[in-house]
Amino acid sequence: MAYKITEDCVGCGSCEMVCPNKAISEGDKIYKIDPARCTECVGSDSKSQCVEICPANAPVPDPDHKETREQLLAKWKKLHPGETPKV
Ligand code: SF4
Repeated sequence: MAYKITEDCVGCGSCEMVCPNKAISEGDKIYKIDPARCTECVGSDSKSQCVEICPANAPVPDPDHKETREQLLAKWKKLHPGETPKV
């Protein structure tokens, strides 16, 4: 399931720098996550990096983008051709 950023975002931008998939970008008021690039960090890290670093607990799972671990890993492989998943 991709994550999304709620209105609790304080706009610090910390998440953009730690996302291994370059899924996060600055929106009009708050940062946003591209669900086509978010893998819950599956393939890169054991924990969602945006969640770990956010001081406002703004990233949350997006129920509109439910995916299995296999689907998330397939997405990661498309984003990182030729690389081996780390987790
Ligand atoms: Fe990026 Fe991971 Fe956050 Fe998804 S959960 S937006 S892949 S840092």
